Amino acid sequence: MSDLRDLYQEVILEHSKAPRNFHGLAHANHRADGVNPLCGDQFTVYLHMDGDAIRDISFEGSGCAISKASASMMTQILKGKSRAEAEKLFERFHKLVTGEEPAKGGEDLGKLAVFSGVSEYPARVKCATLAWHTLHAALVGEAEAVLPEDE
Ligand code: ZN
Repeated sequence: MSDLRDLYQEVILEHSKAPRNFHGLAHANHRADGVNPLCGDQFTVYLHMDGDAIRDISFEGSGCAISKASASMMTQILKGKSRAEAEKLFERFHKLVTGEEPAKGGEDLGKLAVFSGVSEYPARVKCATLAWHTLHAALVGEAEAVLPEDE
């Protein structure tokens, strides 16, 4: 298990050093800002929606390795997905990082399983979910993400 953990850490570090889709989006038609006051992470998520499909997605901002890697991998996975698929993935991901449904969540989430270790560090859960909360805000037309108190 420790080998797997090392691998997971490597993936997270790699994404935080070279985040994917890390730029503004000139043709964005949805955007939202998100701030995690516990850690100081802050991101803007941009979406180019075509009906219910996410044609393009990007993010900008700054944050710790976990928050940046999470945003980076989220943008990779959601490109081409539908609004409903994105919300479903968020639900699964949330269960994974809060430890609510570790094994099952991990299986379905593919690459996002690298964040399973976050459930052991409750203070870092918001780092991992910030980009997703911000995505949700953008999808529903809110300008700012609301992070739940009890996460
Ligand atoms: Zn953080």
